[in-house]
Parts: sequence; C-alpha cells; structure tokens
Amino acid sequence: MQKYIRFVNGLRGFIKSRMEPEEALESARTLLKKRMAAREDNFLNLVEKSIFHYSRSPYLKLLELRRIGFNDLKSWVLQNGIEASLRTLQGEGVYFTVDEFKGKTPVVRKGIQFVCEEAMFDNPFLSYVYEVRSGATRSAGTRIRIDFDYLRHRCLYDAVLLNTHGCLTAPIANWFPVFPGAPGINSSLRFAHIGNRAQRWFSQVGEDRLKVNWEKKWGTRLIFAIHNLYGYPLAEPEYASLNDAHKLAEWASQVLNEHPTCVIYTFAASAVRVCIAAAEAHLNIKGTKFLVTGEPLTPQKKREIESVGASAIPVYGISEAGVIAAGCDKVHTTSDHCHLYKDTTALITHKHKVLHSDMTVDSYLFTSLLYESPKLLLNVGMGDYGEISSGGCDCEFASIGFDTNISGIRSYEKLTGEGVTFVDTDFIRIIEKDLPEKFGGRSTDYQLVEEEDSKGLTQLQLLVSPRIGPVNEGEVLNRFMVLLRKAEDSPESWAQSGTEMWKQSKMVRIKRDYPIPTASGKILPFHLLKTEKQQMVNV
Ligand SMILES: [Zn+2]
Repeated sequence: MQKYIRFVNGLRGFIKSRMEPEEALESARTLLKKRMAAREDNFLNLVEKSIFHYSRSPYLKLLELRRIGFNDLKSWVLQNGIEASLRTLQGEGVYFTVDEFKGKTPVVRKGIQFVCEEAMFDNPFLSYVYEVRSGATRSAGTRIRIDFDYLRHRCLYDAVLLNTHGCLTAPIANWFPVFPGAPGINSSLRFAHIGNRAQRWFSQVGEDRLKVNWEKKWGTRLIFAIHNLYGYPLAEPEYASLNDAHKLAEWASQVLNEHPTCVIYTFAASAVRVCIAAAEAHLNIKGTKFLVTGEPLTPQKKREIESVGASAIPVYGISEAGVIAAGCDKVHTTSDHCHLYKDTTALITHKHKVLHSDMTVDSYLFTSLLYESPKLLLNVGMGDYGEISSGGCDCEFASIGFDTNISGIRSYEKLTGEGVTFVDTDFIRIIEKDLPEKFGGRSTDYQLVEEEDSKGLTQLQLLVSPRIGPVNEGEVLNRFMVLLRKAEDSPESWAQSGTEMWKQSKMVRIKRDYPIPTASGKILPFHLLKTEKQQMVNV
C-alpha cells in the first residue's frame, strides 16, 4: 500500500511542479552547467557513498582484489580526470561486460570468480516509484526503477534538445508501443513537465494484443487520471500499426499548416515508414523533426527521412540510464553523431571479443555520475559499441560542456529491428536447437541474415538450407515467431510488442539458401550483411 501512496504523491508533486518551456530551458542551462562544473566532485561523492561505503556493491569485490581504495581513485581523478581514471580501473579489471552484468556469465578475474545479479546494481538511494521495461527482452528481466525526481531531471535535457532544433514549443507526437516500454509513457511525462505536452500518442501495438499485469495497467491509468484531475490531460494512446504510418504523416502535414515545425518521437524504422507513407500520399511533411531512438540511425535511414524535407535527430539511450546522448543541429559526416550528456554519464571503450562471432569491437563502458541514476554503473558494458571523439562542434550542447561525441553506434549482442530488440541468447537457441529439432537438419542449416533494404528498413532473412529437403515455409516462420515470443514468458515482456511489430512489418522472411560463412569459414547463427561501412575490426 505504501508504495502506491508514494506513487500518487510523487506523481502529484511532479504535475504541480511542471514548468513553462522557457522556464525549463533556463533551468536546464543553469543546472547542466553547474553539474558540469561539479562533475568530478559528483562522481567522487557517488562512488564514495554507493561503492566504497556500500558493502553490497558488486564493484567492491573487484576493487578490493586490486587493493584500490577511495583515496587512490580520488587522487587519480584529481590528477588525470574521470575518463583516464576509468581507463586505469578497466586495466585493473574493474569493469563488467554486459553478460557479467546480466549474470549470464560468471565474472572471472585473477584469483576471483562470482556471478552478478542485476539487482545488485540498483541504486540504493533511489525511492521506488514505478517500473518500466527497456526495449530489450532480457530473460533475466530488466526492471528499471524510476522515480519522478529522476524524470524531473531527465526532462531538462529534452528542453535543451528541442530548443537546439528550434522546436521547444512545436507540436509533438509520440509513436511508441503503449506497453510495456519506457519510451511512450516516459516521454509523455517528460514533455508534459517542460510545458509542451505531446499532442498525440500513437501506439504500434494495440493494448488488446498484449497481456500486461494489472499493476502496470493501473499504474498507467492512474498517471492519465491524475493528469486529468489537475486539468493537464496527457494524450491517450491511439492504435496505429506499422502499416498505419500515414496517420502520423497526416498529423504532421496538418500541424505544419500552422506551425513551421513539428516533432515526431519514435523508432528510427518507424520514422522511415512515416516518410515513405508521406511520399506515397503526396503529403508535405517538410519541417518535421524526427527524434529517433531504439535502433541505429544508419546513413540510409537518415537519407530516407531527409528525402521528404524532414530531419532525423538521433536520441541515444540505454535502459539502465535513460537517454544519455542526442544529436545537435550542425552537419556531421556520421549519420548518428550524438553529444554525450556528460554531466550524468562518463564513457570509455574497451576491446571486446564478441561471442558467436569472429569480431572484436570497441565496446562502450558506461559510468553513472549522479545520484538519480536508476542503476549505479562503473565501467559497465551494455552490448553497444561505437566511436568516441571530442570537440569539433559549436552547438548549444558543446557550450554546456557536452564536448564528447559518439557515433557509429551498433549492438553486438542484440537483434534489433523496428526499434525492438531481442537478446542473442534467445534467438540463437531457436536457430541452433529448436528449429532443427522440429524441421530437421543441424544447427548450421539455419541462419538469420540481417540486412537493410534500399529504404533503410531492416530485413531479416531466415535461411533454411536446401539440404533439408522440402519444408512448409509458412510453418517454419510461424514457429520461429512463436518461439521468439515465448523466449520470455513474463506477461510484461517486450517480446509481445516485438513479435507483433515484426509480424506487421513482415520483417522476417524465409529464404531457401545455404547459410553464409564468415571470412574465417565459420557458420554462425546470425550473419550481418555489411551494406554500409561498419565500425568493426575483424580478427
Ligand atoms: Zn553539436
């Protein structure tokens, strides 16, 4: 009962403290600059309390092994800065890969071995308010605890981001699944808090298609009801499947009659669909700013969006820390150039050999710098890799001090399409074991091949070797989707929304062909066709 009261009180306080857009922008500029100035102090405070003085911290085991105390870290930070110190820590074995963080593989360092659980990384200082799920279907379950204080801080970045792109007060529409994901409800709350409520919320998946637990359903209903009570109603989700992208295009072309610009916040592939629909229906959506997230903004997707006079702004988030980087208004050579929100997150890379693959990547390691982070991260990998650079921009983000840029961002342990992600362990088991058991052949007779079509949409081909002889292709496809949906049986799982969207987009197709070997001759369950220059180092 207590937690529901806290939830309602938190929500009421959140609504009552909402700002006007200009006020939010001013407050954001002041606060972010202040935090940048105190960045090292904030980091040291956080690690002192939440790691060195928190006996249950999983990091302590690694630090103690190398006899690294708080004073050592402090002197490194004061001498060489946060990032250099994080690299030193990484070199000493103080980091967790994504598999170690999820408890999928044991942590093995010189002289020590243990297994983590995700809950170990929860921020002990955070009051629980409501839980949302990340875009990934994690079998271990990725419940992210978020409170309204956290949202209050997060929305300040939105004010800067919208303002940078000249749309602080422009009409906004969201196109995200209603359940169980974070982006839909979170962005609705955040935009409302900075005085620019989303006018419409379209959901790719109908509520009736999903099994959702009552707590989550009622939590969401309550958010709407209390906003209504305060005379500040939020847009209710309306069903618009991936094949209804024209609804978004119609909304944009309509509001653009009266406004110079408008914002659609959605997955990168969904944005491409809106642009295709607009072109087909001869709707003018020139001036639309697509804030895109959930999957890489590839050069092809960006071109497709720009071909109708719209712009694509990458928004990069990780479920464990929310949105941590976004694109500015300047022209860059990479399609997904983002400024890291450096006051909350520090980022370094390390060379990581990818399982089920023959590549080594520059994997990102994330570190949280502020108390409101739902998870406390110190050099933790999230399955993403890419480039890091610094400086070279004169935009508003840079003036705040956000001078670290990231680009070429890709995932190595996930299968992402239409903004929905499946973790490799789920589909690898299906490809290597379940399908051969059901339809014959061996583990190397099936393979998923990912490629981007000429419109920038991801296609997955499920190769079935001709060696197997005749099979009912429809049945194989159906079986694959059923198994994928079942990969996580929780009613809150993203797998439900995910498979629903993949069916709508006909993303997976069967092809009778021999699986493709890698350069070194191996047949892997998953193969990526390189259509664009990829930031990979083959070994
Ligand atoms: Zn910039």
